[in-house]
Amino acid sequence: MSISRDDVLDWIQVTAGILKENRDYLIKLDAAIGDADHGANMDRGFKAVMGKLPELADKDIGTIFKTTGMTLLSTVGGAGGPLYGTLYLQMGMKSAGKMDLTLEDWIVALQAAVEGVVMRGKAELGDKTMVDALSPAVEALKEASSNGRSLSEALEYSAKAAEEGMTATIPWVAKKGRASYLGERSAGHQDPGATSSYLILQAAADTWKDC
Ligand code: ADP
Ligand code: MG
Repeated sequence: MSISRDDVLDWIQVTAGILKENRDYLIKLDAAIGDADHGANMDRGFKAVMGKLPELADKDIGTIFKTTGMTLLSTVGGAGGPLYGTLYLQMGMKSAGKMDLTLEDWIVALQAAVEGVVMRGKAELGDKTMVDALSPAVEALKEASSNGRSLSEALEYSAKAAEEGMTATIPWVAKKGRASYLGERSAGHQDPGATSSYLILQAAADTWKDC
């Protein structure tokens, strides 16, 4: 079973809807430990990506992800813009020319994407960032694959791991980004970027459940 080019377009569309629905929630999370713009940033970015979908209808998955990354880079702003831009650009590099993705392809793409985010933002696990949701999601995909799980099962496990990673950020003190300026006062709040990353990966698991 595999993820088709149309499935990828569906995922992006579903992601845009989910981020719109969660705009105020992400703003509230960022208001507690940042500057209250994360929800607006992500919603603005994915609205702009939605505007590009018509020109992507017949393109390969690499082009779809690369265009998504470039658009996020130029519209999201803040710390999230370059990091989410990198995430999708790297996914695009690994899926260049492809019209569908197997579980193995998706693992390669997401792993490179997360490595790109780590390289760019220099966050380690436990720094209370989006990496705390993204990295466990990649590990869960790899484990599911080596246990012979199906694509849809692996996606469910990876979304679950991202959710656990997101929740784990609550008691932590932020070591990167704006929240780190708060020091100990950042503890007790869920990281907004880890939350948007979880929402994006849960959207993948939901959209691709029949792939
Ligand atoms: P800003 O902090 O510039 O206002 P956003 O509010 O859009 O940007 O995004 C904040 C999120 O970005 C944080 O919750 C965190 O998850 C993520 N983030 C910030 N700095 C880094 C970093 N160096 N590496 C990884 N993620 C980071
Ligand atoms: Mg912010």
